[in-house]
Amino acid sequence: MTALLELKDIRRSYRSGDQIVDVLKGVSLKIEAGEMVAIIGASGSGKSTLMNILGCLDKPSAGTYCVAGQDVAQMSNDELAALRREHFGFIFQRYHLLPHLSANHNVEVPAVYAGMGKAERHQRASELLQRLGLGERTAYSPSQLSGGQQQRVSIARALMNGGQVILADEPTGALDSHSGKEVMGILKQLKAQGHTVVIVTHDPAIAAQAERVIEIHDGEITADRQQTRQDDVAPSLIEPAATKVQPSGWPQVIGRFREAFSMAWLAMAANKMRTALTMLGIIIGIASVVSIVVIGDAAKQMVLADIRSIGTNTMDIYPGKDFGDDDPSTARALTVDDMAALGAQPYVKDVSPAISGSMRLRFGNTDVPANVAGVSEQYFGVFGMTMSEGTTLSSEQMQAQSQVVVIDQNTLRLLFPDQKKVVGKVILIGNMPATIVGVAAEKKMMFGGGNSLRVWIPYTTMGTRLKGQSWFDQITVRIRDNYNSKEAEQQVTRLLELRHGKKDFFTFNMDTMVQAAEKTTQTLQLFLTLVAVISLIVGGIGVMNIMLVSVTERTKEIGIRMAVGARSSDVLQQFLIEAVLVCLVGGALGITLSFMIGLLVQLLLPGWTISFPPFALFSAFLCSTGIGVVFGYLPARSAARLDPIDALARE
Ligand code: ADP
Ligand code: MG
Repeated sequence: MTALLELKDIRRSYRSGDQIVDVLKGVSLKIEAGEMVAIIGASGSGKSTLMNILGCLDKPSAGTYCVAGQDVAQMSNDELAALRREHFGFIFQRYHLLPHLSANHNVEVPAVYAGMGKAERHQRASELLQRLGLGERTAYSPSQLSGGQQQRVSIARALMNGGQVILADEPTGALDSHSGKEVMGILKQLKAQGHTVVIVTHDPAIAAQAERVIEIHDGEITADRQQTRQDDVAPSLIEPAATKVQPSGWPQVIGRFREAFSMAWLAMAANKMRTALTMLGIIIGIASVVSIVVIGDAAKQMVLADIRSIGTNTMDIYPGKDFGDDDPSTARALTVDDMAALGAQPYVKDVSPAISGSMRLRFGNTDVPANVAGVSEQYFGVFGMTMSEGTTLSSEQMQAQSQVVVIDQNTLRLLFPDQKKVVGKVILIGNMPATIVGVAAEKKMMFGGGNSLRVWIPYTTMGTRLKGQSWFDQITVRIRDNYNSKEAEQQVTRLLELRHGKKDFFTFNMDTMVQAAEKTTQTLQLFLTLVAVISLIVGGIGVMNIMLVSVTERTKEIGIRMAVGARSSDVLQQFLIEAVLVCLVGGALGITLSFMIGLLVQLLLPGWTISFPPFALFSAFLCSTGIGVVFGYLPARSAARLDPIDALARE
């Protein structure tokens, strides 16, 4: 029959400086199932080193170690973790409990990694603590327990997954004699129930209580003797090992995830100030990205709405080659016939010419300069103007060259400071009297407007009576809604070219301007977003930095978790979750902050409509998770790659 634990010529050496120190010098040893073995030796003789090799926390430099006939050198790290988790139970001189967890939770840890359900493992941990006399103290944290009590918690933890082989390294070394006796009593009971117990000690009195004593001196076994003992072992205190629970698939994954999550939360809560400062980077980053996107969007909408209010589906046609061209040969290019031809096109909704000039307006003693525009009856439709009083000009008035005028609000205010109803009154335009037929309502506009006065009269009246010209300064066309304005522009150009036989005009489309404005705001927004993204990256680097510090600080915790059976992937997951959690909470706070910024902007600039599209919020969350994963990965990996024994040795 193969022995449960079998060491063959095990050597372990450490490199210290440029010297190689042999700590174990060829240890061969067999331990059968159910034995209680004491390993005794002076301090520094290599007992702990041997124990760590027995517990698969450390690997020998040479020699073979078989557990139940299986060579551990052939096992993967995850298989070794499983061995520690399922078969071994460690008891350390310094207890090695996780300080921020309750007694009960400490006992549960190995079961978490074994995939036991939450309720079940809680129950089993309580039972174990109860049987070890700690039923009253399950909720205490290690610092609230005495040494003996802490050691009993660690025994309960060793038994959590069965603890077929109990490995106790100086279990009584830090205890007073009374607590030491208690612990030894428990270990003897465990042996009586069939557990294999290996105790390392430098105390002959402790060793005397085992039935087999192995003496080790300077890394070599000097004696190995059986001693008969008639021990009065108390009746069973602790139930035999629990049947192993190994659910696979989702419940186990979720259980481990939940543990990692709650650990991450605890770790964050334990270092509030540091966590808050780390988060600050993410908060600022996310808040600036979201604010810039959202406020930038609002600004863009505002500008575009302004431009659209002028009309994006209108097109202006001017004589000449470009603005500012006053070549007399082309000045007369646009005619009444052109207007009629344009009006007949299927894609044209309204068309209006304009003959403009600066003239003085007079009423009573008031005499002011104004822009006078000769337009057709369709002009008001082209620009979507409404009247606050009276009506627009009519086609009859065009034909009759009527002396009628539509005035704007500025004119109303200047000429009729305290009159409300002005339709029917006669004003002088230059020297021509004209009857007011309508008052145009105020139109919110970003460009123009201002304080200048504008009045509109029939183009026929303007052409014949005021300016003496039969050609137009401009023709404005409103395209039907379902028509593409680019195509319409091409068709207008072709039509007029055909009619004139040459291109003595040019077109100006508002759409072009909208696109230009859109492009400008987009470029600006992109630039600002880039700056914000940089701040986000800086925040991410902050997270990485803190996580690296955290890993260094918690090396011991990682070691303990690995000793009780955590896989590398469990450790990786825990630290990744921690990084993601920091970023997610930071992201949520950042979004809240940007909400407040949005609200403030709304208060200061009432005209703006700030909206938070769900997509922006979703991508902010996605972004913070991504940052957590990207910047948390390196620290998490360095945690997962720690060697359990190195990690445990770190204080
Ligand atoms: P014991 O537990 O019997 O007191 P250890 O097994 O802890 O002794 O250590 C045995 C010897 O190995 C000691 O001299 C110690 O200095 C040395 N040693 C232990 N661990 C290391 C290490 N990680 N690096 C270098 N030397 C070590
Ligand atoms: Mg030791």
